[in-house]
Amino acid sequence: MPPFVTEAVILHSADFLERDRLITFYGDERGKMRGVAKGAKRSRRRFGANLELLAHVVVRGFERPGAALVRVDGADLIDYYQGVREGVMGFARACYVAEWIAGCTAERHPLPGLLPLLLRVLQLLDAGKGGEGLLRIFEAKVLDLAGYRPRLDRCVVCQGSLKGPRVDFLVERGGVICADCAEREGGGVRVSMGTILALDEARRVGLDRIHRLALTPLAVREGRALLRAFYTYHVGRKLRSVSFLEALEKGVIPTQGKGEGARG
Ligand SMILES: [Zn+2]
Repeated sequence: MPPFVTEAVILHSADFLERDRLITFYGDERGKMRGVAKGAKRSRRRFGANLELLAHVVVRGFERPGAALVRVDGADLIDYYQGVREGVMGFARACYVAEWIAGCTAERHPLPGLLPLLLRVLQLLDAGKGGEGLLRIFEAKVLDLAGYRPRLDRCVVCQGSLKGPRVDFLVERGGVICADCAEREGGGVRVSMGTILALDEARRVGLDRIHRLALTPLAVREGRALLRAFYTYHVGRKLRSVSFLEALEKGVIPTQGKGEGARG
């Protein structure tokens, strides 16, 4: 069994059998992995909070060729993101981000740039700087990094250039359709050209600048419907955390505490 050491973020963590914990983590060099930490359910002394959801850690373990689950022997904590855990909205957004990554990545298939993006988003949420606009930027970037790449710069049908002010997004075709093609083929989700341009910019913005990219409320709202529909259709998974997050975003469930309700 070859040993491994990898910097990672815990994407899912649950009690497993009588004494163990089953965790899913995304590691820089190894991509998403699932593993069992023996005795971790009872022995918090050995693992502490290091296997909690969203913890940034260095995971040590063994990988058996052909086995689905790795053995997790230890995890050294780099960041616990206490600020994220103290607020309902920040925590809900961080859980949503973790679920999004867990859903659109394949096991043992590392995606260059994905861990730095995840860490940056968690840092911003931890500092109370992550509004809903940050989620749109994250979503646009992750879809690109994971290879789904929605077509936003040209018509998916005729490859022609796009003219605003409003265009259609065809979820099944994976991109924007021009007015002429929409007339022939039927339209899709109608969005403003500004939203398409904003999402196109969002996926290209550097990590050092993502907190400065301000999306308009319209782009945040239209982008939410568009990107979640794209994810559900192309990734083929329903996001479980989305109903709770949407209830918070729409104010159906009130939020309390510091740095919450930040939008934009
Ligand atoms: Zn066209």
